[in-house]
Amino acid sequence: MKKLFTISLMLLAIGVVTAQQQTRPAQQGQPGQLPQPARMTPEMTEIWEPEVPIVEPGAQPGMPPSDAIILFDGSEALLNKEWEDARGNPTKWIVKNGELVCVKGSGPIKTKRKFTDFQLHIEWKTPSEVTGEGQGRGNSGVYLQELYEVQILDSYNNRTYRNGQAGSIYKQYAPLVNASRKPGEWQTYDIIYTAPRFGNDSTSYFTPPRVTVLHNGVLIQNNVSLRGPTLYIGIPEYSIKKHGPGSILLQDHGNPVAFRNIWVREL
Ligand code: MG
Repeated sequence: MKKLFTISLMLLAIGVVTAQQQTRPAQQGQPGQLPQPARMTPEMTEIWEPEVPIVEPGAQPGMPPSDAIILFDGSEALLNKEWEDARGNPTKWIVKNGELVCVKGSGPIKTKRKFTDFQLHIEWKTPSEVTGEGQGRGNSGVYLQELYEVQILDSYNNRTYRNGQAGSIYKQYAPLVNASRKPGEWQTYDIIYTAPRFGNDSTSYFTPPRVTVLHNGVLIQNNVSLRGPTLYIGIPEYSIKKHGPGSILLQDHGNPVAFRNIWVREL
């Protein structure tokens, strides 16, 4: 019993000494004065390494920077090198005067390369001769990873459902504004895409796909989170399936929409 009492006293003494050490100022100063942190200088929050990589911007706005992969530059040779049809055969879309034109009934075309996160620049033009209305006028689309459509449509004086007009994430997000040019005029999309991430569950996103779109330089989709793959009929959430990198796909919706100056930067 006496031994136990002695051990208890020793432990108490150690505890008191440790507590005193913990509260003792690290720097000598006036008794009871707490240590003062070193005064901040501007250099303390400057990060120098590694140096940010240099990219040569395009000569004109919209032209590819030095680290871009050029997917279409007006030449048939590059079309055949970078693109194929949905079955992996040479595409039947045609190159005319440096423009890539969708041929009705030939099906979509997709890049042979597969991408995860990227910045895409693409220029497109709906026919100057206006035929059809609503979804039947100048319809095509840019599918991100073959699954998520940024709608291409002649939306100049052409009403349709708001989440299906030009610049919509089809049937999920209407564009913030309608920045369409007239039919027959070249238009641009600059698309920033973050692919979804999946956990163990293969039928729901760990983080969803996210998309930002500028239409003719105007922000129309601001980092929106997608609900699932693009569907014409149905609920996107029910169609989620785990996937990896995917192609960029251009839709054949039966209208001779033209494309030019397509480039991508992997992120
Ligand atoms: Mg479409």
